Amino acid sequence: MERKRSKDLALKERAMKVVPGGMYGHESTIMLPSGFPQFFLKGRGGRIWDVDENEYVDYMCAYGPNLLGYGFEPVEQAAALQRALGDTLTGPSERFVELAEAFVGMVDHADWAMFCKNGTDATTMTMVIARAKTQRRKILCAQGAYHGAAPWCTPRPAGILDEDRAHIVYYQHNDVESLEAAFKTHAGDVAGVIATPFRHEVFGDQSIPDAEYAQMARKLCDEHGALLIVDDVRAGFRLARDSSWSNVGVKPDLSAWGKCFANGYPISAVLGSDIARDAAAKIFVTGSFWFSAVPMAAAIETLKQIRETDYLERTIDIGEKLRNGIGQLAEDHGLGLKQTGPVQMPQILFEGDKDFRVGYAWAEECVKRGAYIHPYHNMFVSASHTDEDVARTLTAADGAFRSVKKDWKKLEPHPVLMAVLG
Ligand code: PMP
Repeated sequence: MERKRSKDLALKERAMKVVPGGMYGHESTIMLPSGFPQFFLKGRGGRIWDVDENEYVDYMCAYGPNLLGYGFEPVEQAAALQRALGDTLTGPSERFVELAEAFVGMVDHADWAMFCKNGTDATTMTMVIARAKTQRRKILCAQGAYHGAAPWCTPRPAGILDEDRAHIVYYQHNDVESLEAAFKTHAGDVAGVIATPFRHEVFGDQSIPDAEYAQMARKLCDEHGALLIVDDVRAGFRLARDSSWSNVGVKPDLSAWGKCFANGYPISAVLGSDIARDAAAKIFVTGSFWFSAVPMAAAIETLKQIRETDYLERTIDIGEKLRNGIGQLAEDHGLGLKQTGPVQMPQILFEGDKDFRVGYAWAEECVKRGAYIHPYHNMFVSASHTDEDVARTLTAADGAFRSVKKDWKKLEPHPVLMAVLG
């Protein structure tokens, strides 16, 4: 049966008139196959419904925030209790201190916490703190790594000046030599190194954390008096119940968090060790909604679930079933897939699919069949995904493989994608 699309298409048309480009950022469907819905009605557990009431097993998890399940009751109750008291007040509530205490108790490198709204706020703050601490200018970033949408890091050039990035120095991810070279070239002027816990760029294979590279980043920062920053906005609490680099035995000085730690409520955080405490106290940062108490109450409950439940093991179990099942189907259909990254944050690309036409067609066919699979961004498994969700996904994936094979010769590259990738 054909999916209904009429409400979504009508909303897209209305949005075009009152929103520049109709939508913006990575939530825009302009770079996705045309069968992807833009607007959603609701979410429950591991599923979402678009505005036309089509149901999907959702592997984007709101691009990360859904960790325990949409509408997860204990978190919703904690949020509701706080909402009855007040949310955005003249100052923070008790929840502010409780949340900072919870983080400091859970994340080994953290002696303190500060809260903000988006991941970009957090990554930008870490940079400012590193500069305030060291009185130096350069921040070393891995080429192509995503750290948010501020002028110093946004991936698109429009409206951005060279000066905005004058002191951002790029090195190659996972490449100790290029990191050493960057330190050498800017000796005496490196304030910090910012790194994502593993390589999770769009349009590319993911790679799991490389212990040697992480340990070398730590060593070089120590030798040069620079701060090590881990951007855990996307991977935080999806790999470990601690900082993601605890898995490779490395403690950063600062870490940026966001997305999932309040299970979808809007809040992000910077955590730091004592070495950066004074500098963090000196910088001026704030925001009208940074101290709102409802997201903090939601975060406190989410952290409790992270500490006390097997959410991570369940997520990994489902991720493994999904990876194995999809891998087997691809093999049965004789198609070469590259499934990379941790199973709970899977990236699925097709071998030799240079212009992504096969992956796009397959993802679109999955979406048509009720599994929201992304063609170029890493996905997320939540603790609420079930065996039944996986079974439904595999049925969708099987039909999608079949359809792609049938239409192989007719597949074409996506025009907007081609324009953006050049
Ligand atoms: N850092 C990383 C690694 C991210 O994945 C993101 C968001 N995708 C950000 C920073 C920015 O977070 P936000 O979109 O909440 O500003």
